[in-house]
Amino acid sequence: MKRVVVYCGSSGGVKPVYLAAASEMGSVIAQRGISLVYGGGTTGLMGAIADAALESGGEVIGVTIDQFNSSEIGHRNLTKLHVMDNIHLRKAKMQELADGIIALPGGLGTMDELLEGLTWAQLGYHSKPVGLLNTKNYFDPLVEMLDQAQLEGFLYASKADMLISDSEPGRLLERLGSFRPTVNVADRWAKQTAGGEDRP
Ligand code: AMP
Repeated sequence: MKRVVVYCGSSGGVKPVYLAAASEMGSVIAQRGISLVYGGGTTGLMGAIADAALESGGEVIGVTIDQFNSSEIGHRNLTKLHVMDNIHLRKAKMQELADGIIALPGGLGTMDELLEGLTWAQLGYHSKPVGLLNTKNYFDPLVEMLDQAQLEGFLYASKADMLISDSEPGRLLERLGSFRPTVNVADRWAKQTAGGEDRP
């Protein structure tokens, strides 16, 4: 993996462990010679991961929009900054630049971006691995929701085929790098929505 896009909170969360996890993720990404693509901010986990990657000598590419690129919240020391015309183009650019996707704890923006990464894989728009840094089990309820969606017949690939979850940054990167899906999620979705084969 050469470039990874990381989605994470523009807030820091209430427990210091979240910011610490973002810093560790940033350092590990840079130490492995992987470029970081992220939303271009200075606040919360976004600022922490970018600063840590830069401090470890890594390349950090921000992708933002004017609304978020003010002097207070826009990062000024990135390797490169793309300023897109709107949030839709921003999300598409972030995904396009990377060959792997990771979400760290965050709020609505992070969850939107993570679920878009999974949805676009299901549609066959990309086949990049998608991972979660599940610090302090933050994402357990979301993972349970995916199980529930599959159980109730709304999701046709199991989460094991779609999503790699780990609480340790280095191990998560290794698992993303070696991920080979056992099913083609886009094929499975297309067949099921066309009313084809039995559900897994
Ligand atoms: P959050 O997880 O809500 O703190 O947001 C993390 C990132 O998602 C930031 O880069 C925000 O600019 C972005 N973001 C926030 N809200 C939205 C939204 N409704 N749709 C898409 N991106 C968002």
